[in-house]
Amino acid sequence: MPCVTRYNGFMKLFVHPQTDSQINALIKHPKRTVLLFGPEGVGKFTVAREIARRLTCAGCENGSCSACVLAAVGSSPNIILVEPDAKNTIGVQAVHQLHHTLNYRPYGDNQRRIAIIHNADSLSLPAQNALLKLLEEPPVDTLLILTAIDRTALLDTVVSRCRLLYVPPLSVKAIEGFLLEQYGIDQQAARHAATLSHGAVGKAIRLVRDVDQLQHAQQIQQTAQGLVEGQLFDRLQVAATLATAPQQIPECLSALADLAHFQARHADRLLPEPLEAIQKLQQRLKAHIAPRVALEAYVLEAGVST
Ligand SMILES: [Zn+2]
Repeated sequence: MPCVTRYNGFMKLFVHPQTDSQINALIKHPKRTVLLFGPEGVGKFTVAREIARRLTCAGCENGSCSACVLAAVGSSPNIILVEPDAKNTIGVQAVHQLHHTLNYRPYGDNQRRIAIIHNADSLSLPAQNALLKLLEEPPVDTLLILTAIDRTALLDTVVSRCRLLYVPPLSVKAIEGFLLEQYGIDQQAARHAATLSHGAVGKAIRLVRDVDQLQHAQQIQQTAQGLVEGQLFDRLQVAATLATAPQQIPECLSALADLAHFQARHADRLLPEPLEAIQKLQQRLKAHIAPRVALEAYVLEAGVST
């Protein structure tokens, strides 16, 4: 099934067909609380903004009405955005402020209001507890949309109050086609960026815009794959080399997690083992175990030797 590209006048929405039909269903029968979750860069925030635009649209077909224009430039009085602060946290104050804002009626007649809590996995524990009340009884005519990469960072009580909508990664081929069409770059660059993006169109776009970042991502990807693929001796050598540049470890872990999500898409289920091995490595590093020891343990637990 081909991916769906929609241009609403301002935003380019490029999503999996499954996501497109879920958006359409949601527009027809809006819920009160929705959690969009999926890997980084697959377009969760763009999807949230598109849902908000369509629900506040004054009836145009192409994003040209004043409500759509305001939504597209981020100035709609009926679309409220809550994002993490400089410390990458959404604190309880932000949730109280949201609650306060939602006490007022939506602007305009017969209007809906949409509150987007972007990167909700950054909500502090007190903030999540404060949010529970709002999720239980959202004000009339209000839709709450949460986006999250890691929904396990959210309380079960938060997740259970939301309609869950998984935004899956796209295929490499679909992203390559999108980059060729939209950015006019050569096929090899498009293929490299698409492959390194692991199905995250946002990441692919960032890579084609920045050649240095593309090269760096290629190197990180090689290292990450070197940890889990090939002969054990070679993999242990990659671990030893990486341990001498520990600042690259988080990026490698992120690349490995992306790879696991991407492979899961083809297996049609999330394989827990690769992610569990990554979590174990993170815990060991947090516990100040020497990077080389932690990485070697990871290599022994996670890889498939040939
Ligand atoms: Zn409109």
